[in-house]
Amino acid sequence: MKILAVVGARPNFVKVAALEHAFRKHHQVDFSIVHTGQHYDSTLDAVFFQQLEIPEPICHLGIGSDTPNRQLAQMLLGLEPVFEKEKPALVIVVGDTNSALAGGLAANKMGIPVAHVEAGLRSFDRTMPEEINRILTDNLSDFLFVTEQAGLDNLRAQLSGSSVPKVFFTGNCMIDTLVRFREKAAATAAFQKLGLQTKNYILVTLHRPSNVDTAEGLEGVVKMLEVACQAVPVLFPMHPRTKISLEKFGLKNRLESLKNLQILEPQGYLEFLNLLENAVLAITDSGGVQDETTFLGIPCLTLRTTTERPVTVEIGTNELLPLPTPKIIGVKIQQGLDSQWKQGAIPPQWDGQSGRRIAEILINLLPEKS
Ligand code: UDP
Repeated sequence: MKILAVVGARPNFVKVAALEHAFRKHHQVDFSIVHTGQHYDSTLDAVFFQQLEIPEPICHLGIGSDTPNRQLAQMLLGLEPVFEKEKPALVIVVGDTNSALAGGLAANKMGIPVAHVEAGLRSFDRTMPEEINRILTDNLSDFLFVTEQAGLDNLRAQLSGSSVPKVFFTGNCMIDTLVRFREKAAATAAFQKLGLQTKNYILVTLHRPSNVDTAEGLEGVVKMLEVACQAVPVLFPMHPRTKISLEKFGLKNRLESLKNLQILEPQGYLEFLNLLENAVLAITDSGGVQDETTFLGIPCLTLRTTTERPVTVEIGTNELLPLPTPKIIGVKIQQGLDSQWKQGAIPPQWDGQSGRRIAEILINLLPEKS
C-alpha cells in the first residue's frame, strides 16, 4: 500500500518525521514524502531531513517563495503528475501550511483519500493565512487526526452533512519528535556553546505577519526586546521573513546595537530544542513552540491575540500577550525569572505515541489491496 505525505515547510518536517518513523514499522506500507519546496533555505529545510532522519523525498517540486496564489497554483500543477504516477492509496498532509492545503486539494480532486494530521485547530482569526488553510484542509479531508480537545469541539461544530470525515483524537506528532530526539538535542550543548547558563536566558522566535510584516508590529517587537535584554541575555534565532522586514523598516541597526541580544540564524531542530529546554522563558508567535514549551514545562509568552492551541493556555505554560507595553512585558519577564509562572501540565495523549496511533488507525481503515 502506497502512502504519500506532502510537506513543504519547517513545522511540516517536524511532524512528518513522527509519521514516517511510525509507518516504517509496517512493512505492508510504502510511505514516501513529496516536498513542494515551500521552504528552500537550508536552515529551514535540509538540516531537518538530516537531523530528524527523514528519508529523501521521492520528488521535490522546487516551488519556493511566491504570492500565495501563484504558490498554490504551482503546487497543484506539480502534484497532479506525481499522484498520477505514484497512485497512492492515501495522501497525508500535516498542519496549516499552503503545502498542506495544496496536497489535500490536489488529492481530493483526483479522488484520492486525504488524511489531515493536526486537524480541528482554530484561532478564529480569519486574517491569519493559516486559519483559512486549516478550515479548507479539514473540509476536504477524509480522515482527521486531532491533537487536543478543542480540535474535536471545533470539528463537531463546523463539519456537517452525511459524508463528514472520520475524526480521531490521537495526540501531537510534534511531541513524538521531541520525545524521540530529546537526548540527542541535549548532546548538542547548544546553550553552553553560546556561553549561556541554564535558566538564565530568554529564547525568542517571531515570524508571523501580525508581528513582523508592518512597521508598527515590528517596532513593538524591538521595544519588547529592549526591555527583555535589560533582565537577562536574549537569544533570537531569526526567521528569514523577520530579517527581511527589519531591513525594510530600517530597524536592523537599532536591534543589533542591543548588548545583551544574540541574533542567530534559524537553528537546527536539535540545537533549538536544547536552547528551548534550558531557557527561563520563551517569547514566540510560533504554533509549534507553544506546544513544545507546554510539554517541557517552560514558561511561554505568545505575542498574539489568539491561539489555535488553547490547551497550551488552559493546561500548559502558555500565556497570550497581544501588543505588550514595555511595562507589562517587564512584569511578565520578571515573573518568569522569579519562577512565579503557572506550573502547567502535559495535555492528554501528548505521550510520544501519536504517530503510532495514526498509523495503526489508517492501516486498519484502508482497503488491504490498495
Ligand atoms: N524551530 C527550529 N529552529 C528554530 C526555530 C524553530 O528547529 O530556529 C522548530 C521548533 O522547535 C518547532 C518548529 O520549528 O518544532 C516550529 O516551526 P515554525 O515556528 O516555523 O512554524 P509554526 O509552528 O509557527 O507553524
